[in-house]
Amino acid sequence: MWFRTFLVVDFFIEEILNVPTSYISELLLNKYHFNKIDNIYFKGNSDSLIYLCAHIDTFNKKLYGNLEDEIYPLDIIVDENKIYLNEKRRVVLGGDDRCGVYILLELLEYSDNFFFFMVDNEEIGESRRINIFDKKMFDGKIIITVDTISNILIPHKYDDNFLKLLKYFFPDFKIVGKRENRFSILDYIKSDFKGFNIGCGFYNEHTNKEYILFDQVLNTLNLLKRFILSFKNV
Ligand SMILES: [Zn+2]
Repeated sequence: MWFRTFLVVDFFIEEILNVPTSYISELLLNKYHFNKIDNIYFKGNSDSLIYLCAHIDTFNKKLYGNLEDEIYPLDIIVDENKIYLNEKRRVVLGGDDRCGVYILLELLEYSDNFFFFMVDNEEIGESRRINIFDKKMFDGKIIITVDTISNILIPHKYDDNFLKLLKYFFPDFKIVGKRENRFSILDYIKSDFKGFNIGCGFYNEHTNKEYILFDQVLNTLNLLKRFILSFKNV
């Protein structure tokens, strides 16, 4: 079992975490065949009830201004379950939001059933461009963004029944109200939907003290899978 986990961590670090944003962009377009309009990459069934989202850029893009200056590879340490940086430079690990990207890529095998989209330049405020999509497209949907810390869950436009559902499917998550500085792309979608932002195992984002607890990444992946598949035939 440890061997499998080792391989999974390796893949996550080498292919998803320790690469510049341009690499993820290429991966989505060429390997996973996403469509792209403006800064939004998308794929799957837009008629489905469930929409899943993450952002491909990291805070390093904001720190260093442009793609070419993003510093990779990073000197990354894996200490059993904890992933962190071995450097003093002004650089961040980038689990925000590469943990989210990883989880979505792992769920892509269900893309005939669900709609997936990823945005670029979220950290420099470009999430508002989501409005290039017709806002009716999001009406009545459940939109999940995988883009917050640890194992917290921030519901967005919900009712009591939806909250009950979240408590059932994500029992070990701490359901919290939206706090300052915890903006997500959901704030920019001006439609009538239900949704939430779910924690995916990173901590101290936007600082050089950022770290990732990989078992939490896998836990979010597993619970989300169970949640979305319960809607498969709706
Ligand atoms: Zn983020």
